[in-house]
Amino acid sequence: MKSSYDVGIVGAGIVGLSTAFHLTKSFPQLSLAVFEKEPEIARHQTGHNSGVIHSGIYYRPGSLKAQLCVEGATAMAEFCAEHSVPYEVCGKLIVATTPNEINGLKELDRRSRANGVPGRTDHPALQRQAPNTWNISPTYDRGRLSMRVGIAYNQANIFFYNYTDGAALGIKGPNGDNYLYSHLQVDAQGSFRLAKGFTAVVYGLNLTNEVFGFYQGSPIYPIQREYYNRTIGAGLRWNSSLER
Ligand SMILES: Cc1cc2nc3c(=O)[nH]c(=O)nc-3n(C[C@H](O)[C@H](O)[C@H](O)COP(=O)(O)OP(=O)(O)OC[C@H]3O[C@@H](n4cnc5c(N)ncnc54)[C@H](O)[C@@H]3O)c2cc1C
Repeated sequence: MKSSYDVGIVGAGIVGLSTAFHLTKSFPQLSLAVFEKEPEIARHQTGHNSGVIHSGIYYRPGSLKAQLCVEGATAMAEFCAEHSVPYEVCGKLIVATTPNEINGLKELDRRSRANGVPGRTDHPALQRQAPNTWNISPTYDRGRLSMRVGIAYNQANIFFYNYTDGAALGIKGPNGDNYLYSHLQVDAQGSFRLAKGFTAVVYGLNLTNEVFGFYQGSPIYPIQREYYNRTIGAGLRWNSSLER
């Protein structure tokens, strides 16, 4: 170690290291030292973050944060490609889950446009959504008679990433995918209104008796299956409230 340097940088997190990287690239003659109090680099925030390359949707348009975030996202992807660091541009889907959130979504739409976030679209197609999933529920009501049938079908599909078995340093599934087998379920119910709040009911649940099965990438339990037996029942139901 030398006794003096042109530049000293304190902290070997991503900010210190990337500053050092760019300084030495731009000024190869520069002598530079990075001082780190820990025995290794990236022991703090840099080594414990979520690894997301943020696209710049959220920040106030015109702010330095917004500008640096959008430029930084592109620069980070270029850096990773150049230095063979694995990264994935997996995209991000933002949805409003309640009507109250729609205004917030509009604001994000405005900000992402103003910030020039690349690759945004208002008509996203989920790459891994469950294909050919449908539900049909025919009903028949006439006089005192009421019939309901529920038919639900899910084609085999992969539905999420990053499976872990929950243990510290535990097993990760291959690519973390969960794989559901195709599944068809049929439920039916019929009721007939008798006098004075009494109804005769007959029902059948899971009539196809199909096993719900999935693969979740665990080498210990590679395939899981759940059995819900077919259930058929009949009886009288009494409702104490007066009919109108
Ligand atoms: C939980 C979490 C999740 C995050 N997720 C994301 C994300 O998904 N995407 C994203 O872009 N950002 C994310 N961030 C933010 C991002 O990780 C930080 O902005 C970034 O790592 C900050 O880097 P830094 O180099 O400034 O700090 P640090 O990584 O904390 O590095 C500072 C370094 O300085 C050293 N140091 C401190 N004092 C001294 C001293 N006196 N002498 C010598 N060395 C010293 C420390 O030991 C440390 O190594 C996340 C942050 C957290 C905490």
